[in-house]
Amino acid sequence: MCICSSASCTSSTTTGPSQPTQQLDSGGTTQTEKRHSQRERVIMEEAKGNSWIILHNAVVVTMDPQSRVFRNGGIVIEHDSIKAIGQSSDILRDFSALAHQIIDLNSQILLPGLINTHVHTSQQLGRGIADDVDLMTWLHGRIWPYESNMTEEDSYVSTLLCAIELVHSGVTCFAEAGGQHVSGMARAVELLGLRACLAQSTMDAGEGLPASWVTRTTDECIQLQKELYNKHHNTADGRIRVWFGIRQIMNSTDRLLLETRDAARQLKTGIHMHVAEIPYENQLVMDTRKANHGTVTHLEKIEFLQNNLLAAHTVWVNNTEIGFLSRAGVKVSHCPAAAMRMLGFAPIREMLDAGICVSLGTDGAPSNNRMSIVDEMYLASLINKGREVFANGNTDPTALPAEKVLRMVTINGAKSVLWDDEVGSLEVRKKADMVVINPSFWTMVPIHDWISSLVYCMRTENVVSVMCNGQWIMKDKKILNINEEDVILMAQQASSELLKRAGIIIPKRMNIL
Ligand SMILES: [Zn+2]
Repeated sequence: MCICSSASCTSSTTTGPSQPTQQLDSGGTTQTEKRHSQRERVIMEEAKGNSWIILHNAVVVTMDPQSRVFRNGGIVIEHDSIKAIGQSSDILRDFSALAHQIIDLNSQILLPGLINTHVHTSQQLGRGIADDVDLMTWLHGRIWPYESNMTEEDSYVSTLLCAIELVHSGVTCFAEAGGQHVSGMARAVELLGLRACLAQSTMDAGEGLPASWVTRTTDECIQLQKELYNKHHNTADGRIRVWFGIRQIMNSTDRLLLETRDAARQLKTGIHMHVAEIPYENQLVMDTRKANHGTVTHLEKIEFLQNNLLAAHTVWVNNTEIGFLSRAGVKVSHCPAAAMRMLGFAPIREMLDAGICVSLGTDGAPSNNRMSIVDEMYLASLINKGREVFANGNTDPTALPAEKVLRMVTINGAKSVLWDDEVGSLEVRKKADMVVINPSFWTMVPIHDWISSLVYCMRTENVVSVMCNGQWIMKDKKILNINEEDVILMAQQASSELLKRAGIIIPKRMNIL
C-alpha cells in the first residue's frame, strides 16, 4: 500500500514475506534501503516550501469506497488537501521529518467534515417564533413576514449565529435552502471559513405572499440568480458555490421551473427545492396542474427532474414517484426533526432501496430549533426504525443501521451537493475537511463499536475541533474566526428589531409573572 499521493513515488510502504530477497550493493546498501532513500528524496523535494501537518494516533473513519477505518491512523495535510492517509506508524515514518506540525490526537476519532444538506441560515434569528402553531400560521403569520422584513445585515448575523451551531456539531459544508440575501450569507461563510452551496429563495406565483415579493416576475427571478452566481460562485478560495433555488411548487410557475432547470444546466450548478412536503401540496398540484398524483409526478411530466436537483423533505411520494426520482438521479435531503414536527414520515428505506442518494439536513430554526446535524443522525436512525411499525406493522431494529446514517452525513451529503470529487470522505487528493471527536466523555464511554457510538451516542459536546479546506475553524471547542459572544449579542438585538418591523407578536404561554 502506498500512502504517498505523489505520482512520482513508486515505492511501497509495506514490506513482508512477498518482498524479494535483499541484495547488497558494493556499499552494503539493500535494494529496499535504496528505494526508501529514493522515496525520502522525492518527499523532501515535494516538501520544499510546503507546510505539511500530520495528525496521528487517531481512529480514522475514512468513509472511502472500501469503508476503511484505521484503529491507529494518521493523515498528512498539504495546504488545503489530504496528501497521505494510512497507519500512524507509516505516516510518521515517511513524513514526520519534514512536517511543520505534528499533532497527536490521543486516540480521538477523526471523521470527514459532516455535511448538512438542507438548512435555512437566514431563519436562525427566527428560532422560537413559530413553535406549536399550525402550518398556515407558521408560514403566513410568522415565516413570510419574518423573511420579507430581513435586511442583508440581518441575514449576515443570522448566518453567523446558525453557522456557530453548525460548526459545533461538526459541519464543514452545508446547502442553503434559500433565503433572501445571498450576499449576506456569503460574507458570513467567507469569514467563518466554511464551505457552502448558497441559494436564493425564489417564487413567482402563489397566494398570500408578502407585498415586497409578489412583484417579482419569472424573468427577474432568473436574472437575479444569474447575477448572484456571477458575483459569488467559486469565491472564498472556492468554498462558496451558488445554486438556483425554488422555494416550492406552490410558489412557482412551470416556466420558472423549466427556465431554472435550463439555467442550472447551462451554468453546471445545482437546484435546491422543497418537494412534496405536505398532502395539501400534492392535492393543489392535482387540482391546478392536472397531475394524477402530486408534485413529483408533475415534475416528471414537465421533464424537470435531473441529477443536479436536491429535493428537500420529499415526504409525500408513492412508489412510482420514487422510481422517477431514482431514474433521474435526484438527491433527497431527509430532515427528520422537521419532518416529525410538521410533515410526516418520509419513505427513506424505500428511497435508499431504489438507489436514491439520501442525505441529512436540519432544516431551519423555526422548524426544528436545533441546528445540530449530530442530533439529526440520532433522530434519523430512530424515526426510520419506528416508521417500520407504522408502515409495515412490524418492528425492525435493523432498519437504517448506523453505517448508513454515517454515510448520509458524509459521502451521500457530498454527492447531494455535487461536491463528492473533493469532499465527503478522507481520501488522498480530497480537500482537508475533517472533524475531531473526543469519545472519552460521559456521553460516549464505554465504546465497543465506534460506528454505532458515533450515531447513537455522540452528541455535539463530543465535537472538539473542525478543519475546513486545510484550516482549523474550531479548535478545542472555540470557533477561531469570530467572537461567539459578540455574535450572540448582535443576534439578540437584530432579532428583536426584526420581529418588531415584521409585526410578529408571540402569544404568551402559561402564567408569566
Ligand atoms: Zn426548508
